[in-house]
Amino acid sequence: MTQSVRLLILVLLATFLISQPNARADPAPPSLRVATRVVAPLVQKTNGQLTGFSIDLWNAVAARLGAKTTFIEMGDVNSLLNSVRTGQADLGISAISITAERDKIFDFSQPMLSAGLQILVRGKSDQGAPNPLQGFMRLILSPMILVWLGIAAILIVVPAHIVWLLERRQSGGIIPDPRYFPGIFHALWWAAGTLATQADQMPRQWLARAVAILWMFTGVIFVAYYTAQLTAALTVAQIQGDINGPDDLPGKRVATTRGSTAAAFLKEQHARVEEDASIEQAYQALLNGTVDAVVFDAPVLLYFAEHDGKGRVQIAGTVFKKEDYGIVFAEGNPLRKRVDEALLELREDGTYERLYQKWFGAS
Ligand code: GLU
Repeated sequence: MTQSVRLLILVLLATFLISQPNARADPAPPSLRVATRVVAPLVQKTNGQLTGFSIDLWNAVAARLGAKTTFIEMGDVNSLLNSVRTGQADLGISAISITAERDKIFDFSQPMLSAGLQILVRGKSDQGAPNPLQGFMRLILSPMILVWLGIAAILIVVPAHIVWLLERRQSGGIIPDPRYFPGIFHALWWAAGTLATQADQMPRQWLARAVAILWMFTGVIFVAYYTAQLTAALTVAQIQGDINGPDDLPGKRVATTRGSTAAAFLKEQHARVEEDASIEQAYQALLNGTVDAVVFDAPVLLYFAEHDGKGRVQIAGTVFKKEDYGIVFAEGNPLRKRVDEALLELREDGTYERLYQKWFGAS
């Protein structure tokens, strides 16, 4: 072999070796802007550092693509999607559900985690009365009952005075002492008893009897109305503690995140939706009692119920609307294919399983 042929082979070999990695890395820009948002445990922030299943998964994908990442944090899922649509970010990853509607505008990677909607309520001990006696006491001391007792007290004073005035001179009647004190106490006692439809004695004076009859009717109406109010209050208290599935949601106060698939579902269900920027705010509303439930993605709710919310919240019912999470790209972005390949490779080499166990293993 001549010197020049040997040189030619060397040059060709070097060109081949150099061009190989270049060809593979071609569609991936060296640094990718990745839109994300905190939705633990998919994305969470510890000491200013982003961690979580989605972050770990993306870092593994990026390592395969040989790309650097700059994360851009977004306020809600809509602004996250918008940043991808307008090109402010190259792609988005967090807890983004793949939906038919979003797929019209975006491209999604293959599913990276199965999720779906589920319901979170306060723990049993927070949900209302833990025992019947406490429930009864709570009802007796409720503002509604106190208002009624106040109205009754004011009402009693009027007929008591009329009857005292008319009856005080009747011997052997309901006012044994004609003086204002203690005569008025007897009259008040009589008026209170009659209002509660429990009078044991009636006046003797004819005008006082007429007042007594009117007062007896007032008593019947008062007791009927009071019973109706009490029954309504009891029924409402029972219904409110009772969310077991999506059918129980209409009319309930339910918190979720702004722009989420859960918010769209709740609006269809005619629930009273509170849309918060972060899922943490929704949890807080549930714990404070300003809402009756949180409806959101199952993996997220399960994680909270097992960790920070343990003992204070509980899952109600099963996943009632299945969804998958995906990585989102602007339509036609060639990067998607490379990311899909990387995701498949991560499943095949066990990395995906390891990350899954790390973040969801316990639950
Ligand atoms: N899975 C929800 C969605 O894609 C998450 C919403 C959020 O990030 O708050 O709509």
